[in-house]
Amino acid sequence: RKHSRGTRASGTRAAAGCAVAAPATVPARAARWAAVLSTRAAPAGDRSVLIALGANLGDPHAAVDAACARLQVFAAAGFRASSRYRSAPVDCPPGSPVFINAAVAFEAREGETPATLLRALQAIELACGRASQRARNSPRPLDLDLILFGQHVCAEAWLTLPHPRAHLRRFVLEAAAEVAPDWRWPGRDAAVLGRLGRCGAA
Ligand code: AMP
Repeated sequence: RKHSRGTRASGTRAAAGCAVAAPATVPARAARWAAVLSTRAAPAGDRSVLIALGANLGDPHAAVDAACARLQVFAAAGFRASSRYRSAPVDCPPGSPVFINAAVAFEAREGETPATLLRALQAIELACGRASQRARNSPRPLDLDLILFGQHVCAEAWLTLPHPRAHLRRFVLEAAAEVAPDWRWPGRDAAVLGRLGRCGAA
């Protein structure tokens, strides 16, 4: 599924107990991003996790909020959630509703691996009403993608890291730039923010 350019969702709500990145003014954000781009990016830690959230069925805001709250359990430290973004679906069935997107970043608790975390994400999706079998790109109450897990690289169908399409999705990069602007993506030379500048997605 491709998305058009995401826009910051109005009426953004914080989940109960969910740390949401403080909204920065556009000039302040631009200055921060410029600073990030001009300095050498810090490497992400071994268990630095970046997750993309999306929903376009039912109550997407509530689903994203609930997922944020559930994901905090997996954090040992540094849990951050982005603003919510609104993005129009492309290549989805006609009449598909707009998506609400967000990203969270945190240091995973000890013992957590990409595999255990992916299974946990899938359990949260199911708990939020997502059907295990569904048509490709069909509307979904919740979609959780594991974008980065430290410097892990994996090329299996059941788990690909870094997520294979994240760098093409502006709404992922915009949200990620809020919560993990200086994280290195394995196998790439640029941090999240550098990707935003080169993002080919509309
Ligand atoms: P989707 O319907 O787009 O959410 O894709 C779900 C499928 O992608 C599942 O079978 C996952 O095992 C697989 N998958 C592969 N890599 C990832 C990843 N990094 N994050 C989430 N799901 C993944």
